[in-house]
Amino acid sequence: MKLLIIEDEQGLRQNITTYFNEEGNVCESCGDLASAMDKLAMYEYDCILLDIGLPDGDGFAVLDYLKAEKKSESVIIISARNSLDDKIRGLNIGADDYLTKPFHLAELKARVVAVFRRKTGNSKGLVVFNEISIDLHGRAVTVNDTSIVLTRKEYDMLLYFIANKGKVISKTALAEHLWGDEIDMHNNFDFIYTYIKNLRRKLLEANGRDYLVSIYGIGYKFNAE
Ligand code: CA
Repeated sequence: MKLLIIEDEQGLRQNITTYFNEEGNVCESCGDLASAMDKLAMYEYDCILLDIGLPDGDGFAVLDYLKAEKKSESVIIISARNSLDDKIRGLNIGADDYLTKPFHLAELKARVVAVFRRKTGNSKGLVVFNEISIDLHGRAVTVNDTSIVLTRKEYDMLLYFIANKGKVISKTALAEHLWGDEIDMHNNFDFIYTYIKNLRRKLLEANGRDYLVSIYGIGYKFNAE
């Protein structure tokens, strides 16, 4: 999963980042509203952790922006303001959840997983696509009931492809999702091919169908037909 942490308390921002990185996620972060808006205009995330009290404005502006741009990022508000008005306002303009500071990181993680499960439309934490099934809790994948061993990046890649099945995904978008926003400074994404090749081989070895299609000059598509 790729997360954006918008939080001006540096210590908390760092703790959240370290915690979610160790869980195998890609984390980006920023400490003010202006940088958050820049990032949102350029990149995509699965989930945004949003502080409301920011030095240059309030976090509700992020929700207004996502709504106006019809973006699909999930948002969990993390705020020191424990006011019912703020909660209602946040949830009304598109936040998925609201967590009051201070909180335990384990609780934040549980909320993130719950939001992601709702987004992928399943309540058991299981993403199923034809013969492929992915257990989000255990990060385990089976193809035709045979478990296959994927590296962390291959796993994230498979989940990202299934979430975007049928869509052409550029190499840049794939790289940003799996390695973080800074990767767009690279001018060559050929290294991705190795990851695609290995993922494809592992799926085929378990008698999975061949879903991964290369779109010349652009990127890849996970064929859903
Ligand atoms: Ca703050």
